[in-house]
Amino acid sequence: MTAELPRAATRAPLVDPFARQITYLRISVTDRCDFRCTYCMSEHMTFLPKAEILSLEEIDRVASAFVERGVRKLRLTGGEPLVRRNIMSLIRTLSRHLDSGAMDELTLTTNGSQLSRFAGELADCGVKRINVSLDTLDPDKFKAVTRWGSLDKVLAGIDAARDAGLKVKINAVALKDVNEDEIDDLIRWSHGLGMDITFIETMPMGEIDFDRTDSYLPLSQLRARLSEHWTLSDIDYKTGGPARYVAVAETGGRIGFITPMTHNFCESCNRVRLTCTGTLYLCLGQDDAADLRSAVRASESDDLLHATIDEAVSRKPKGHDFIIDRQTSRPSVSRHMSVTGG
Ligand code: SAM
Ligand code: SF4
Repeated sequence: MTAELPRAATRAPLVDPFARQITYLRISVTDRCDFRCTYCMSEHMTFLPKAEILSLEEIDRVASAFVERGVRKLRLTGGEPLVRRNIMSLIRTLSRHLDSGAMDELTLTTNGSQLSRFAGELADCGVKRINVSLDTLDPDKFKAVTRWGSLDKVLAGIDAARDAGLKVKINAVALKDVNEDEIDDLIRWSHGLGMDITFIETMPMGEIDFDRTDSYLPLSQLRARLSEHWTLSDIDYKTGGPARYVAVAETGGRIGFITPMTHNFCESCNRVRLTCTGTLYLCLGQDDAADLRSAVRASESDDLLHATIDEAVSRKPKGHDFIIDRQTSRPSVSRHMSVTGG
């Protein structure tokens, strides 16, 4: 039997001025969350009014326009994507692009709190891999970092996802004086369950309740420390994201490092980000954006939407310039990560 060929795109692929093709769209489906992680949000956040948020139908329209233009991978994020009402109906609708062969991957980044409920349905919609954020395995620290989260619930969610056949990757933000003493345990635990783990540096995004320079742990330092007692070797493993991976001889698992602060990964950037209000950001670390909500709401035809996307991609910046230092304690990007979706 011959495999069905991917549907040819009827409109031109999206290529930016630096010849980078846009094949990956991250969508923040809500700015809300059931956690209040200290590095991400302040305890008392003001969330957006409903009228400003794209409806699930509007998100589908924008996502599908990108798929038509050659985007092969969609990642839903937030806020917490699985707390958006009826989120599974959007995921089910988007999965038609997997069935048609127009898209390779539909995935999400989640805090894991709702996975016990949704894991089976996600697998049924063709989701194969998910990223679960987990910074610590200590219940008290977990409570301190997430303010509102429960470690047991997240661990049960991870079990449910694995039981449903989803491949889970753990994302942990490396936090000085918070989880730096636990990094080895996190590696042992995740690799023991066959899960890769990626460490992320804190990024200066959005006002929070404390100074981020206090918890900033450069991954170059972390990696140097790890190589004192693990045998790490650089590998060419890629998941379409900015992480650089090493293999750990002792566990047979992989560790990823996402180092926006100490290493520039912009030259291979293939992605753009859509917020829940329909703002398209061309770069995580820059304020250049385009308003796709107006384009969607102004006309039933998608022509204006495509023209707005084209114009936006023609402005994609070459790279970002995040800075965290004592002189610049203000965030270099004022929006929170929960708005752009990480
Ligand atoms: N709520 C979901 C979660 O926590 O996985 C998805 C959204 S969250 C904004 C996506 C990722 O961004 C999480 O792994 C989180 O730890 C990370 N994150 C949030 N704020 C950050 C910051 N200021 N610097 C670095 N990573 C951050
Ligand atoms: Fe919520 Fe994720 Fe931000 Fe934590 S990192 S507050 S789980 S959006």
